[in-house]
Amino acid sequence: RVVVGTKVDQNHVNWVTAYNMLTGIRFCVSRTNAKMDRELTDADFDAKHKFSFDITGNELTPSAKYDFKFKDYAPWVFRHLRGRFRLDPADYLVSLTSKYILSELGSPGKSGSFFYFSRDYKYIIKTIHHAEHKFLRKILKDYYNHIRDNPNTLLSQFYGLHRVKIPYGRKIHFVVMNNLFPPHRDIHRTFDLKGSTIGRDFREEDLEKNPRATLKDLNWLRRDASLEFGPTKKKAFIEQMQKDVKLLQRLHIMDYSLLIGIHDLERGNEENLRDKTLQVFQPGGVEEEPGPSMLMRTPSKLESARKAKELRQMIKTQKPVPMDQSSNKMPDELQDPKDPKRNFYFYSDDGGFRATHEDDSPGEEIYYLGIIDCLTHYSLIKRMEHFFKGLANTESQISAIPPERYGDRFVKFISGNTKTKEAAEREKREQAAE
Ligand code: ATP
Ligand code: CA
Ligand code: CA
Repeated sequence: RVVVGTKVDQNHVNWVTAYNMLTGIRFCVSRTNAKMDRELTDADFDAKHKFSFDITGNELTPSAKYDFKFKDYAPWVFRHLRGRFRLDPADYLVSLTSKYILSELGSPGKSGSFFYFSRDYKYIIKTIHHAEHKFLRKILKDYYNHIRDNPNTLLSQFYGLHRVKIPYGRKIHFVVMNNLFPPHRDIHRTFDLKGSTIGRDFREEDLEKNPRATLKDLNWLRRDASLEFGPTKKKAFIEQMQKDVKLLQRLHIMDYSLLIGIHDLERGNEENLRDKTLQVFQPGGVEEEPGPSMLMRTPSKLESARKAKELRQMIKTQKPVPMDQSSNKMPDELQDPKDPKRNFYFYSDDGGFRATHEDDSPGEEIYYLGIIDCLTHYSLIKRMEHFFKGLANTESQISAIPPERYGDRFVKFISGNTKTKEAAEREKREQAAE
């Protein structure tokens, strides 16, 4: 299984697929965004448009390097979703279609999905199973309404849903979504938590080989870890998680997890940041040393100059952040004023959510977190898994329990593990006293 992030260049096996994906996205997004904005209609949720690309081009599509077919699903809905997530249309296109495009993570999960990062590391393209694709289309309206009513949702942000097919090839469905992790900060620990213990263990011995592996529930418990949020952030976080999970329960979704990347501010960014950030995304373990071919974002001179100019501008015009959005701003670090994440509570501390103490004063870690992998419907397969696993294990521990209980267990586990160090110690003393 390929697990190392590799640059997808002309020699890469998936070059043609990646090229076609990006060409299709560029065409479809420009096409929709060129039109005057308008309100969504019911028909927008079911819409799909098919395009044929070929080397000569035709009246509808420009010429492309390869022959392929591309389908764009619910383009207006996704345009509005991108708007709600405050993405700038031009930035979105540049990120996804600049020349040395993507790096591929291969297939980190068990599902066989492939992950590609946009060059600037902001977006992830995830190939999804046909069933997940059909399911997303089915729930799109519920998802949209939820995003509309919960701008601070923790759920994965979907920006596009497409299908690509080369002649005689199979149909590949994929979504474009947010990368939870930052391009510019080292992630020192990653956890993928479900609230289940069965099979939820990363072999600690393998950590040496792959110090940035994604750890799971049992590793979390073994470390006695918690999400260190003081009262204000804890309340906001748990309330939002409950709302998000309610939706997932209502839609009979399960198997999702809370992905947490922890940046330790005291450690800060170590040398070799670029290689290390990439490794964070290798949940299956590093099987090869990352080589020099692994393009990562070295900003061009032009980009750096632009950024510097923006920062100068920002210093001049900086407004105080209202207290009610009390995201403990980095004192000495300026944030990218154009980063849309700044507008969202759980992503407003330099793209993440900073730990706080009992008195809500800023803590030593920034969490980059969100609920991911939320397109698995509690289908027949899951019911069968339930049946088989249920024979051997107690039900409260297996991961394939029905969506209602899955969600309750998830919320219980995460809430129970959200506490400051001070609170954790107090709890321990109280327990000892009993
Ligand atoms: P499975 O179904 O076996 O769990 P999957 O192929 O559906 O796997 P996910 O669970 O979605 O994959 O993700 C696998 C890993 O990829 C995560 O543990 C995480 O390390 C990384 N990942 C997924 N989504 C994101 C995201 N939005 N931002 C950052 N990393 C992500
Ligand atoms: Ca998963
Ligand atoms: Ca999955």
